[in-house]
Amino acid sequence: MDYIEEVIQMAEENNPNQPEFLQTVREVLSSLRPIINANEAEYRRMAILERMIEPERQIIFRVPWTDDNNQPHINRGYRVQFNSAIGPYKGGLRFQKNVNLSIMKFLAFEQVFKNSLTGLPMGGGKGGSDFDPNGKSDSEIMRFCQSYMTELYRHIGPNIDVPAGDMGVSGREIGYMFGQYKRIKDSYDNGVLTGKGKSYGGSRIRPEATGFGATYFLLEVLKHEHESIEGKTFCLSGFGNVAWGAAKKIAELGGKVLTLSGPDGYIYDKDGVQGEKIDYMLEMRASGRNRVQDYADKFGCEFFPNQKPWGNVKADIYMPCAMQNEINIDDAKKMVEIGIKILNEVSNMPTTNEAIKYLQEHDVIVCPSKAVNAGGVAVSGLEMSQNSERLFWTQEKVDKELQKIMKNIYDQIVKVTKLYHLDYNLVAGANIVGFKKVADAMIAQGLV
Ligand code: GLU
Repeated sequence: MDYIEEVIQMAEENNPNQPEFLQTVREVLSSLRPIINANEAEYRRMAILERMIEPERQIIFRVPWTDDNNQPHINRGYRVQFNSAIGPYKGGLRFQKNVNLSIMKFLAFEQVFKNSLTGLPMGGGKGGSDFDPNGKSDSEIMRFCQSYMTELYRHIGPNIDVPAGDMGVSGREIGYMFGQYKRIKDSYDNGVLTGKGKSYGGSRIRPEATGFGATYFLLEVLKHEHESIEGKTFCLSGFGNVAWGAAKKIAELGGKVLTLSGPDGYIYDKDGVQGEKIDYMLEMRASGRNRVQDYADKFGCEFFPNQKPWGNVKADIYMPCAMQNEINIDDAKKMVEIGIKILNEVSNMPTTNEAIKYLQEHDVIVCPSKAVNAGGVAVSGLEMSQNSERLFWTQEKVDKELQKIMKNIYDQIVKVTKLYHLDYNLVAGANIVGFKKVADAMIAQGLV
């Protein structure tokens, strides 16, 4: 049997109730065919694919906490340490009601390839909890973070595993977790978490990095198409940290963001999300209400309840910034019908495998999230460098490094698509580049 098919089948047998994880395994492995075919004997000898799909360690733990009325609650905490071949595990923490092991493993698996693409020495991991931060008071959030860290601390460290934020975890939560870690360890291990506040070791540009990086990647794609960002229209989803950074950079470069979305629906702003409206996104997020309708109420634009913008709004470029599987095959068909040309994936795995295939077959350029959103973790890597050398870099320096990293990711991908005659398939190119570096390191380090 074909090596790739064999390992996909093995993944299916061993992880029957993990749809998100199996989705990314199928997507990644099936796109690796050219490089696997060229090195099959060696990869089989070293069980590269079998090891690539099995996390090195998975930690699941109880997180008890009390609410403001002294009522006890129990959540489940996770940390999946997927692959440390090229550096300490690195990846965010997600606090969201629907978090489960399948979602943790899909995110950790993608992180391995994403981190490899950045060119920085970071392995892949991910963690989080099924804790729902919406509507919680600040002291409830703090108690939860402290309890979560009281277990997690024994599994992490600047040279072991370096968590950061993801959905439901930003500067505030990182601060509470860092405080608790420092208290338990009695040691100022600055580099144990990234996304810290500027006063205690955080990097400039880290909050903006994912959205800025996604826009820098898009600039390279537009250049390839002999186009520029100026005057282009955009549909974004989400209104959190990632969408905020993207909206900011797009507006600065002369593009126009027409939509944002939340769990309640999407807003359509014909004048574009810009100026104070971008600042208002921060307020919406801080309110903990998790509603995008507030934007429409404040600025008097249209609101479409319980709908997504995909296929409903005509724009030059789509940038999903909310979560996994927000674009399915029906959306993809509508997108092709209304003539969308570029899908710049910002959230992790926003498009189903079926939808990616359909879009590519209909000449939509799909820019894969592993590359597009790598700017976030890349600046986390730069934060680790700054912590190690006990220095702070200027905003200009971090931004310049980020631009360099995003361009380098793009260039490497295009080089590989040429090498393997993959046309302009950026999805396959990104997977191959990310995979190769990790596979080389795993071979060099033996069967561990
Ligand atoms: N959660 C982000 C991601 O999906 C950032 C991870 C990090 O900075 O470590 O890449």
